[in-house]
Amino acid sequence: MGQTEQGAKRGNFIGGQWLPPSTNDYEPNVNPADSRDVIGHYARSGQADAHQAIAAAKAAFPAWAETPSPERGRVLARAAAIIRTRVDTFALALCREEGKTVAESRGEILKGIALLEFYGGEGFRIGGKTAPSEMKRTLNFTLRQPVGVVSLITPWNFPFAIPVWKSAPALVAGNTVVFKPASLTPQTAVLYVEALAEAGLPPGVLNFVTGPGGAVGNPLVEHPDIRAVSFTGSNSIGMKTALRAAERGIKVTCEMGGKNPVVVMDDADLDLAVAGIISGAYGSTGQRCTATSRVVVHKALYGEVAKRVVAAAKALKVGNGQQAGIDMGPAVDKSQFDTDLQYIQIARDEGAELLCGGNALGSGDLGRGFFVEPTVFGKVKQGMRLFQEEVFGPVLSLIEASDFDEAVHLANAVEFGLASSIYTRDANLAMRFVERSEVGMVHVNNPTVGGEAQVPFGGIKSTGLGSREMSEEGEELFTELKTVFWDYTGTKRDSKIY
Ligand code: NAP
Repeated sequence: MGQTEQGAKRGNFIGGQWLPPSTNDYEPNVNPADSRDVIGHYARSGQADAHQAIAAAKAAFPAWAETPSPERGRVLARAAAIIRTRVDTFALALCREEGKTVAESRGEILKGIALLEFYGGEGFRIGGKTAPSEMKRTLNFTLRQPVGVVSLITPWNFPFAIPVWKSAPALVAGNTVVFKPASLTPQTAVLYVEALAEAGLPPGVLNFVTGPGGAVGNPLVEHPDIRAVSFTGSNSIGMKTALRAAERGIKVTCEMGGKNPVVVMDDADLDLAVAGIISGAYGSTGQRCTATSRVVVHKALYGEVAKRVVAAAKALKVGNGQQAGIDMGPAVDKSQFDTDLQYIQIARDEGAELLCGGNALGSGDLGRGFFVEPTVFGKVKQGMRLFQEEVFGPVLSLIEASDFDEAVHLANAVEFGLASSIYTRDANLAMRFVERSEVGMVHVNNPTVGGEAQVPFGGIKSTGLGSREMSEEGEELFTELKTVFWDYTGTKRDSKIY
């Protein structure tokens, strides 16, 4: 990478133009695997930039809302086709700024493309329904209409897929958008915004502002022209966002943290279970909302599962995700790195049994990044903070259960409710787990992670607030239903019967 790129400054995309921020202030975007790699400098915008973006979105709304939805969908389909020719460029950008491996980054880009393709097709399907009437010659039907200017606030851990799964339903439904990415990962979002513009998205329909959560994020919730907010991130910011949106009486969806369990029953296929646990716990460095962070094991298999999980965790190769053969990248930044190590210390202090890992990796090239060993704790108990709180790093807890009922109880005994999984050969038991698991997404003989464009994604309890994302349910937040009662008798008739 040359000096020019290292010094490149990137502004905001407002009204179809890249503009410098009103603050004239920029912050560096640094590779968490290698502090020498500065990806670029991104606008540290202020409130004035957010207001300008909202005004541009408001001005663009009437024409976009009038554009037939198949035509809106075609813009998304064209963007998908453009990005498909650039998967490697997008994946490298994602790997450099977020730290996940190139293979994981490619997976995220391909998932984002599938979402664009899905919502491109929704342009032909989005709409209401017809229903019979109690009255003669009367037709009842509903229309699904856009809500207006909407804001999208996204986290750093899926800097492509999440902006896509929020913006694509918003756009196909006819809304105009102001999008604020996480400050740690603006470059993948820049590439996405460029692709949308190239695909023919009219100026002002999607506006992009980088900058701090407070200065840029607050107006995106509080400005009177914002009609809906879609947020993904931490519980602390998400709950404040939801409260402020509620005060204004606008629609809001918040997808927040997780503490996702895998249950391993005594009849499980252990090869399958251990592979699923390892990919769920350490894929993307454990920095997935759906990451496996607790494994509840039937007592008959606890020792064997612990032995196999520890061996597999120790075998993982940690390093810069741009290099071949690397299984796990770094923590996203110093703050997350410190959090990982703090939780490891907390778990030790609480009396959990450190089975492997537990340290920062700082020798040689790894000293230039934020690397933590894949860590496994055994004998984790319900009252421990490690059992209850989201670490968002490569730290896994093993918990013993005496039977299925206790396993289900332990799996559910947290405030979060995003994803869960059970490994068993017993189909009846699996279905009972599906029914009783307090989550938005359940897996059977499958890791806790993942989602697909055509099925709903999201959590219950403290994880999720508002409607689900992805699939046609993802359009709920961005549309209002209007019910129409149409009398085509053309003459006066008896008044309604109720
Ligand atoms: P975060 O710190 O809450 O940040 C999320 C977004 O909110 C960022 O764009 C951030 O901007 C912005 N923000 C910060 N303060 C704000 C304010 N006062 N008003 C409006 N916006 C504000 O979360 P994160 O660390 O990026 O993401 C990790 C969390 O996301 C984890 O808890 C993870 O479980 C969760 N997550 C959940 C899902 C799900 O679907 N359930 C999916 C992925 C991630 P800055 O970056 O500028 O601070």
